[in-house]
Amino acid sequence: MKPILSIFFLCILETVSGAWGRHDLLTPFAIEDVAWLNSWNTIEVTSFQHFLSKAFAKDYKENNFLRQYQLNPTTKVIFKHHEQEGQKMTASWILIHYVDEPDWGMDQNLDISADQKFMGGTKGPTSQAFRHLYWKKWNLKAPWRTFHIPPREMGEALKRAQIFYDLAQTAFEAKEPYWAFRFLAWTLHYIQDLGQPFHSCQLLTPKFIAWNSLLSFETLIKRTTQIISNYHFIYEDYVVFRIEEEVQNKFKKYFISALKGTTFMNSSSAYLIARHSADDSNHLSYAIGEASYTFFGDQFLNPSIDVPNSPKGKFPLSPYEQSLRLSEKEKTIFLQNTAKSLEKTAFYTRSLLELAKEEFLKK
Ligand SMILES: [Zn+2]
Repeated sequence: MKPILSIFFLCILETVSGAWGRHDLLTPFAIEDVAWLNSWNTIEVTSFQHFLSKAFAKDYKENNFLRQYQLNPTTKVIFKHHEQEGQKMTASWILIHYVDEPDWGMDQNLDISADQKFMGGTKGPTSQAFRHLYWKKWNLKAPWRTFHIPPREMGEALKRAQIFYDLAQTAFEAKEPYWAFRFLAWTLHYIQDLGQPFHSCQLLTPKFIAWNSLLSFETLIKRTTQIISNYHFIYEDYVVFRIEEEVQNKFKKYFISALKGTTFMNSSSAYLIARHSADDSNHLSYAIGEASYTFFGDQFLNPSIDVPNSPKGKFPLSPYEQSLRLSEKEKTIFLQNTAKSLEKTAFYTRSLLELAKEEFLKK
């Protein structure tokens, strides 16, 4: 039994990518029909220092901020998209252009919790995993999809969502709406990360275990880790690919129509919304794992295939749509399950914005 348990333990070290690949691709559809957001259409850009001085203290600097919020000390909070101070932006523009910001390094190379050794370590790109994942405590009622070792609640994504939501409120109350929406974008990032089933469950299906390596423990761990990474990365790449194709009208708008909508839930905190997002995607994890295995085929079990460390484009994504290997039903199951995850991700995105509107975004 020991090797099998240990497999779960070590698989956590798999490379963690950007959850949905590109949050900036999903967010526009998720918020497009949120009509009230359009009234926030002339938000003045102010410098980060300007915000810090107003919201904290005159001599409060970026390094104080990075320390207080426990962020990578080399982080630079900059205008990545060349907006200028004094320029007027829309709320949607800020949300879309900065929803990926927590993936730009702020949560990397930190040594903040003993649990990090189970969730991507403390160095390099994988070290942000601890902040971008959440695994609920192991539960006897759902022994498979909640399985991880140690079995306690792990990962900080829920807390980070709440921390930046609170900071958005602070910014808004300091009359710094540009920064309020920028921190709401950060909050949305964590909520959206949790909506990706490869991020809310460790081992989605037993099919990802390298069963033929059972005799060599070391190989078993290495191979299973690689298999999960392969499916994880090909899955995310495929979702981005498919949405881009849908944008160009090359495919039926399966994912785009799942993202669009006006539905949301009333909740009392960003923390709870993030938790709902994680719970829903965890519920879908087995179905997504199984459907991914069928859709992408068993080629990713092959030891010579290493998707995360291969050059972009090495595994063309278009053939899956036309594949004769797959029945229409198999393709539909994959697309439907993924669409469900995207629909939930968009739903919780809108729910967070509604909460902010209710609590502090007042004209
Ligand atoms: Zn992330």
